[in-house]
Amino acid sequence: MSKLSVLIVEDEPTIAETLIYSLETEGFAVTHVETGSGAIDHFRNSKPDFLVLDVGLPDMTGFEVCREIRKISEIPLLFLTARESEIDRVVGLELGADDYVAKPFSPRELTARIHAILRRTWRNPPHTEKVDGCGSDITLGRITLIPDRYEAQCDGEDLQLSRYEFGMLRVFMEHPGRVYTRDQLMDLVWDEPEAALDRTVDAHIKTLRKKLHRIDQEFDPVKTHRGIGYSFSPPGSA
Ligand code: CA
Repeated sequence: MSKLSVLIVEDEPTIAETLIYSLETEGFAVTHVETGSGAIDHFRNSKPDFLVLDVGLPDMTGFEVCREIRKISEIPLLFLTARESEIDRVVGLELGADDYVAKPFSPRELTARIHAILRRTWRNPPHTEKVDGCGSDITLGRITLIPDRYEAQCDGEDLQLSRYEFGMLRVFMEHPGRVYTRDQLMDLVWDEPEAALDRTVDAHIKTLRKKLHRIDQEFDPVKTHRGIGYSFSPPGSA
């Protein structure tokens, strides 16, 4: 998969320009439209990963756009609001927004909110990924993976894995005992393997182990094979 794509729906050029610049700097692929109907058209033809939606648009309100889009998609969505009364509506009505930001806002605040929403929704991603969220649960010894929920449990407790930690654990558990090199793990799990480094895999293995150790200090089913990579030790064979 390539960059995450964001659709910005905003009719004020200066705000739109600031948004485009800061989101592109953050590595997103950005598309911009100025009207609600433009947003719905764009949405039908391409599937962005995230929507930033101004409430006050020239042809319809952002709320109406949201309602249309919610009929066909669960895309994560953030409203830009200009007035207190609009904020009340976002908060008060269940419009299916994931968050809102009131104008004037700092681009940094906005991108932080977007990242936070994406982290939340990654546990239930709207689109199929390489190591996707489908498939049956897998239990090996003390660990159970629930792919539908992007959840891994150890002794019944949620390990709260990030998306890549989960992806690696899933690869390991689907082939217990098999040794994977860092390159193989990157290809199987990462969205942009060419941009990832060997130490990225190592860092995620480290945090995965740390989360397992929170449940049991002695439990280390992920084995390091020096100079090669990693594997998952089937229970009872260690
Ligand atoms: Ca506006």
